[in-house]
Amino acid sequence: MQKTIQFSYEEYSSKEELNAADREILEQALAAVPFASPQFSHFHVATAARLANGKIETSTNKENTSIITCAEQNLLLHLHSVYHDFAIETIAVTFKNMNPNTTSDFPITPCGKCRQLLLEAEDKAGKPMRVIMAGQAGKVYVVNGVHSMLPLAYSESFLQH
Ligand SMILES: [Zn+2]
Repeated sequence: MQKTIQFSYEEYSSKEELNAADREILEQALAAVPFASPQFSHFHVATAARLANGKIETSTNKENTSIITCAEQNLLLHLHSVYHDFAIETIAVTFKNMNPNTTSDFPITPCGKCRQLLLEAEDKAGKPMRVIMAGQAGKVYVVNGVHSMLPLAYSESFLQH
């Protein structure tokens, strides 16, 4: 039997088309980009997350001789460190490529490992996480729920079977 999993997302021609709440969280992510320190890749990534407790937290990617970590991963580590319990309602991910002759005007999407980490946070929260993906300018993608970005995902619940 052949089966199909469909994936649907929203596409906006620019951040100006976003609703006010989404635009605000994306602006926070864009403002965090200068705090990234990717000394090897020069690919600056930042996130901002609106939590169920009303707080907004940001993060960036880091690279040094002993660690290379994504902005999404750093956000989750920070949230685990600061909050006993948390639920991310919306996360925005954006970037700026500082390498010469590159553009940053397209949506960035989380890597596979970060999708898995965000999915586990979504599962723990028990409700879909809105994911906004953007560059410095240009199109913006929005997905309602990390689950749709990672079909047939590995689940912690497998351990209980
Ligand atoms: Zn990642």
